[in-house]
Order: sequence, then C-alpha cells, then structure tokens
Amino acid sequence: MTITYEFGDGLYVNLTNRCDCACIFCIRKSDSEAIFAHDLWLPKEPTREEALEDILNWDLPTYSELVFCGFGEPSYRIDDIVWLCDRLREAVPNLPPIRLNTNGHASLIHGRNVAPELAGRLDRVSISLNASNKADYCEVTRPRDREKAWDAMLDFTREAARYVPEVALTVVDFEKSEEELSACRALADELGVILRVRTYAD
Ligand code: SF4
Repeated sequence: MTITYEFGDGLYVNLTNRCDCACIFCIRKSDSEAIFAHDLWLPKEPTREEALEDILNWDLPTYSELVFCGFGEPSYRIDDIVWLCDRLREAVPNLPPIRLNTNGHASLIHGRNVAPELAGRLDRVSISLNASNKADYCEVTRPRDREKAWDAMLDFTREAARYVPEVALTVVDFEKSEEELSACRALADELGVILRVRTYAD
C-alpha cells in the first residue's frame, strides 16, 4: 500500500481513493504502467496514525514540499490532514511547506466551511479550476453535485485565501484557447488568488 511517494523534489501523501468527481482525464481511469507501478490504489485507507508513521520515515526537510494529493480527493480526510499537520509541525523542525492539492469541494463534501481549520496548518492550497465557466467545468469534471460543485469550488477558493498564505487555481493548457485562459485569469484575480497554467502531459 503506497501512502507516501516521491514526485519531482516533493513528497506526496495518498490518503484516499474517494472522489466526488469523475473527471474525463482522471489518472485513476488510466491503465498506464507508470501509474500502477506506484500502486496508488489503496486497498484500505490508512489510519491517521499509520499515515503519520509512514510520513515520518522520510527525511522531510530534504523535500521542497509535502503534498496531500492522493489518488482520490484528499479533502475527504480533511480532519485527518489537520491532525497530521499539527503532529508534523510538533515533531519536525524545518518542515518544508505543506500543500493541499484539491478539487475545492471540501466544504461541500463536509457540509461546513472547513477553510478556517486550514489556518496555521497548510502553507499552500492548489485548487483545480479545470475550466473557465460552470458548464464546461461540469462537462469535464462530472461532479456528483453538478452545478453546485462549481459554486462550492469558487467559494472554497475565496475562503481558503483568507486563511492560507498561498492559494492557486490551476488549469491545464490542453485544448484551451487564449480566451479561455484569460477568463480563468480573470476569475483568479477576482478571487484574489494566483492562476497556474500547467502544461498537458499525455
Ligand atoms: S478530482 Fe481528481 S481524483 Fe477526482 S476524478 Fe477528478 S482528477 Fe480524479
């Protein structure tokens, strides 16, 4: 069971397979050997204690970031992520920045505004924007809660920016026109966050 793995110069943490989306590009649907070599599909979710033990096996200060990412949507485990951040901050001097990679549905999933709980725990949050408008977003990410998920993602972004030092919306440049990217930039500006345009990798 792979709870932690290196990617680039960061250390990634995988806590769940669960997700409320079914993105058309999701790697969980891919049969790529590279992906399955990582054995990221969890036969069972690790407990928070198992995850802590696994994370502490690595020389954390040598990484550029510690990233809660996961094969699914990590914010299903937001209570455990908060707990893990507290334990790690107590246990490890010179901890690298901690980032959450998310679809931005945490508050929707949990039925409460979780953003205040991120203060002092996370240094960075990256939220997948995926599209410049609600209709395209729903088509690409196929969220369980449909249009509500787009609004929830934008609300979460706005709220997270109040509590976390660095919040970014991310979009992949694949099949995106300059117009769409400009609309994404405008959305990010309106929400007071950074827009990161990532290059598509097949
Ligand atoms: S939000 Fe992430 S994990 Fe969920 S379906 Fe989309 S790409 Fe996959």
